[in-house]
Amino acid sequence: MRFQVGRIELALLDGGRFWLDGGAMFGIVPRSLWSRQYPPDEANRVPIVCRALLIRTPDRCVLVDPGLGTNWEGRWKEILKLTPGNIGAELARHGLKPDDIQTCVFTHLHFDHAAGALHQLYDQWVPAFPKAEFVVQRDEFEHARQPGVRDRASYRVLDILPLARSGRFKLVEGDTECAPGVRLVRVAGHSPGLQAVVVESEGLRAYYPSDLIPLLGHLRPTWLAAYDLEPSTVLGEKQRILAEAEEHRALVILGHEPLHPAGVPRRDAEGNLFLEKPKEFAHA
Ligand SMILES: [Zn+2]
Repeated sequence: MRFQVGRIELALLDGGRFWLDGGAMFGIVPRSLWSRQYPPDEANRVPIVCRALLIRTPDRCVLVDPGLGTNWEGRWKEILKLTPGNIGAELARHGLKPDDIQTCVFTHLHFDHAAGALHQLYDQWVPAFPKAEFVVQRDEFEHARQPGVRDRASYRVLDILPLARSGRFKLVEGDTECAPGVRLVRVAGHSPGLQAVVVESEGLRAYYPSDLIPLLGHLRPTWLAAYDLEPSTVLGEKQRILAEAEEHRALVILGHEPLHPAGVPRRDAEGNLFLEKPKEFAHA
């Protein structure tokens, strides 16, 4: 899936797939409601896709959230019904090599976003993009090294240590620009240092809100994942980001949505948001 935002080209890459408990994914929303939109499997799990975002500006190649990677075996692979990612093959489909990635952005360091930044070389795990700097918010990085009791299942220190040892993390604080036209915007509530990605060129915009709005169902204000550390903060933050996206008629890309992950926000007769097919962002 490719889109054009002015002079910047976007592509969604498959960073692996897994299944998560539907109750955890939709928090206080009754099963009778979410299961119509997301039919669960026999273990009450719903399918999740990890969509890495490739951003090509006229002079930089940025990859956001490289997904699940290949460092998976045993019990967790089974619990999560996990299909590993293969970002190298996905980049090749776009005529790129891992060496071509200059910046790798982590919206946050949960395993389903960060693990794909490593690959195995003989018996060692090394950065999958040898020439990239790895950009993350400082407080997210600090937290990922010592997560709390509540969210420690979402982080794996083995995903982060090889990058930390390589000295390639670039820790940022607050809103920043990681390439011309590519802004990183802090959004509170899901994890200690989540950042959304906003792409802007020639008057057009795209938003990649990451786990602030993981699936289409989460466009509704009260559909909040139980994984959110502060659900009511997430509610306010997603309304802020969606109001901006609506005002600018921006493309919105949902990083975990399996079927129709991208579109322009519109409202139906009842005032509920949906994403309309993004004709104005069609790739040439
Ligand atoms: Zn996630």
